Amino acid sequence: MTVSLSRARAQVNLSAIARNYRRLTACGVPVMGVVKADAYGHGAVEVARALRADGADWLGVALLSEAVQLRAAGDRGRMLAWLWAPGDPALLECLELDVDVSVSSEETLAEVVAAAVQSERRARVHIKVDTGLNRNGVARSEWTRVFQAAERAQQDGVIDIVGLWSHLASADDPSDASNAEQRQVFRDACDILASFGVEPPIRHLANSGATLNQPESLFDLARAGIAVYGVSPGEGLGSSAELGLVPAMTLVARLAHVKHIDPGARVSYGGTWVASEPTWIGLVPVGYGDGVPRAASSRAEVLIGGRRCRVLGVIAMDQMVVDLGPETESRPGDDVIVFGTGDRGEPTAADWARWSDTIGYEIVTRISPRIPRHYVTVEAD
Ligand SMILES: *Cc1c(COP(=O)(O)O)cnc(C)c1O
Repeated sequence: MTVSLSRARAQVNLSAIARNYRRLTACGVPVMGVVKADAYGHGAVEVARALRADGADWLGVALLSEAVQLRAAGDRGRMLAWLWAPGDPALLECLELDVDVSVSSEETLAEVVAAAVQSERRARVHIKVDTGLNRNGVARSEWTRVFQAAERAQQDGVIDIVGLWSHLASADDPSDASNAEQRQVFRDACDILASFGVEPPIRHLANSGATLNQPESLFDLARAGIAVYGVSPGEGLGSSAELGLVPAMTLVARLAHVKHIDPGARVSYGGTWVASEPTWIGLVPVGYGDGVPRAASSRAEVLIGGRRCRVLGVIAMDQMVVDLGPETESRPGDDVIVFGTGDRGEPTAADWARWSDTIGYEIVTRISPRIPRHYVTVEAD
């Protein structure tokens, strides 16, 4: 482990990311690495660079500004951005930077057409259809109107319709009938678009869960985020290890203080935990201001010196207190593994998700910029 004197660091293992990416491409179609939200907290610029080196032809981001950030960092490959609110000036910039954009309505199509005219270059467009998630995407009742308008804009030489796509609601639950239903609705959309004479070369539907588990949903391209980072899309699909994934992020803090408390001592805000016998406690200098979820108070555990230690009482903004037991050899400065691969007995992001009633996605994505990222390359055993 890298020697570091900072109070905490998030180690991001780029070898794990490469390995996970290879695992995903074994599905048989090209895989778009999704690097939105700062690559789920892992660092978009570094992860993008690593994925390109691993052969990723496609990267995906949610926001236009995220695409602009990657281009500014030198990325030149194919990239799709799919979410903005009306009037975002980054739309024009994205077209000038050769970023593919998604349209989800007549209004967004009109915006892209206007920006394409202004930039004097054909916009590369992926039409997103709603197949049942009822979030982003062209509503079924508007398909024909939007398809027609898009076909006209293509005829006019203003846009190229390169993709048709949608997003699954329950890919993390293979038993959910909505997976097959959405797939069928997606096929219907492909057929209806084809009836307007448009057959985009890239049809894409699958996210990580579907990539790992639904070959029928793969079409021409898979979009994978969470699995690239080695976190399971959902326990219903299996753990990271069961899916052949290696968690890429290890959150390490360093013990700030060790002290002894007497029976009756109340620990942290509100005194929700009270010592029943004499014990050693350790101060871990990370808290919810760093993205460590307060909801895991009194439940979560960390690994110190090879031993699991429970969090005592409430997790605060900057710090939390852990139980070192009746005897301890732990000293200030010792490493505290908050979460990692699990290989050394430490908790994983999935464990923290369980303790705080959320999903692994949120645990890694919320680790805040306050925690420096350290990039390492460590091959798994
Ligand atoms: C975030 C996102 C993905 C990636 O999903 P994972 O479950 O992380 O693989 C794919 N497509 C869209 C539209 C997304 O918003």
